[in-house]
Amino acid sequence: MVVLSKVNKHFGALHVLQDIDLTVHKGEVVVVIGPSGSGKSTLCRAINRLETIDTGSITIDGVPLPAEGKALAQLRADVGMVFQSFNLFAHKTVLQNITLGPIKAKGVKRKDAEETAMGLLERVGVANQAAKLPAQLSGGQQQRVAIARALAMQPKVMLFDEPTSALDPEMINEVLDVMVSLARDGMTMVVVTHEMGFARKAGHRVVFMDGGQIVEEAAPETFFTAPASDRAKDFLSKIL
Ligand code: ADP
Ligand code: MG
Repeated sequence: MVVLSKVNKHFGALHVLQDIDLTVHKGEVVVVIGPSGSGKSTLCRAINRLETIDTGSITIDGVPLPAEGKALAQLRADVGMVFQSFNLFAHKTVLQNITLGPIKAKGVKRKDAEETAMGLLERVGVANQAAKLPAQLSGGQQQRVAIARALAMQPKVMLFDEPTSALDPEMINEVLDVMVSLARDGMTMVVVTHEMGFARKAGHRVVFMDGGQIVEEAAPETFFTAPASDRAKDFLSKIL
């Protein structure tokens, strides 16, 4: 579903993605872990083409990332993204946040978009908040709305970049639970997170990044109990 091949990216002199090879199969949940500054967000942003790459290739469902125009809009619909900050439209209601994309980008009729949106809000457990503005919701509720908004575009892949790291502790699980249920429904997911519980419950593979490189890939259980590289051992000793 997602194939990165020899991907390189620089920010000036900083080589932030170094020969990244990564394949994510349909229905697979890949958890990306690594120290701050290792290139995890840049990797996600490159997959969604929020960042360009210098060399190498990225394909989504066999199609190379388009540079612009209609094809890029289609790609953005196919690749849903949820950020650390919830990024909802502040002056639109929860329901409008979800229907806007399908109506504007996909030409879905308002009534149909609203019906689908209510179903998605139900699924993430915030249907009773549909008429409110984002600021009236808790962080955990807002992040669940952000997930519903991405799902409304019927993505083939969902990218999550530290979706729970801005949340108060008591709200982390309500968001992770939605993500686990998505994973169990077979969604293809790339998830940047240090939540080991999620990685163990829903992850098929852990990818450990450090200094712009993929240093190690392993099954979650193997990675957390017996990491192979010194860099992973060092990192885990700091977060566990
Ligand atoms: P992570 O998500 O793993 O913390 P990032 O992908 O955000 O890492 O960043 C990797 C490196 O690239 C960091 O050193 C960061 O400062 C740098 N970086 C990220 N975005 C930019 C940018 N737009 N311009 C310059 N440097 C950037
Ligand atoms: Mg990041």
